[in-house]
Amino acid sequence: EPQPLNLKDYISEVPDFPKPGILFYDISTLIRSAEAWQVATGRLARIISAWQPDLLAGIESRGFLTAAPLAQRLGCGFTMLRKPGKLPGKTISLKYGLEYGEDELHIQADAIKPGQRIVVLDDLLATGGTLAASIDLLRKAGAEVVGASVLIELAGLKGRDKLDVPLNALITYE
Ligand code: 5GP
Repeated sequence: EPQPLNLKDYISEVPDFPKPGILFYDISTLIRSAEAWQVATGRLARIISAWQPDLLAGIESRGFLTAAPLAQRLGCGFTMLRKPGKLPGKTISLKYGLEYGEDELHIQADAIKPGQRIVVLDDLLATGGTLAASIDLLRKAGAEVVGASVLIELAGLKGRDKLDVPLNALITYE
């Protein structure tokens, strides 16, 4: 990087999305900038390669945006954590609580060889419920989870405290 680029400048803050009262941090403006996206993926590659993963797991759907290209760049595999009914064959699943109601993530039962080192990726960490559930699911599937990576951390919500693996965030909001 010839000059440091502030990734925060490329995040859009959208009021009242998807519901009134919610401030949504939109990464669309980051990924559509060729320059900023190169910088972001370059920084992610340096951080994640230090964890020496065998496989990257992306959380549906914005987690796929970082996990798939990084897996290719780092020379490791990529696997998807998906909502119910999307993955063919036998799956392992985990239900987890949301602010309102619950959700469920699945992984193909044969996706992970016992003890494989996995890094899990999503776009944003808020309460940490999604990432904590993903880590539990990956362990249920036989993984050694060695790290978690997000583009954005909403630090005030203390989601990081729900995770028992190292977490890296490229952009932090208090
Ligand atoms: P958590 O489970 O940590 O409370 O919420 C994180 C999940 O919700 C992530 O999968 C993330 O994609 C989504 N999410 C929640 N708020 C936002 C937001 O403001 N922007 C984006 N891009 N995703 C969000």
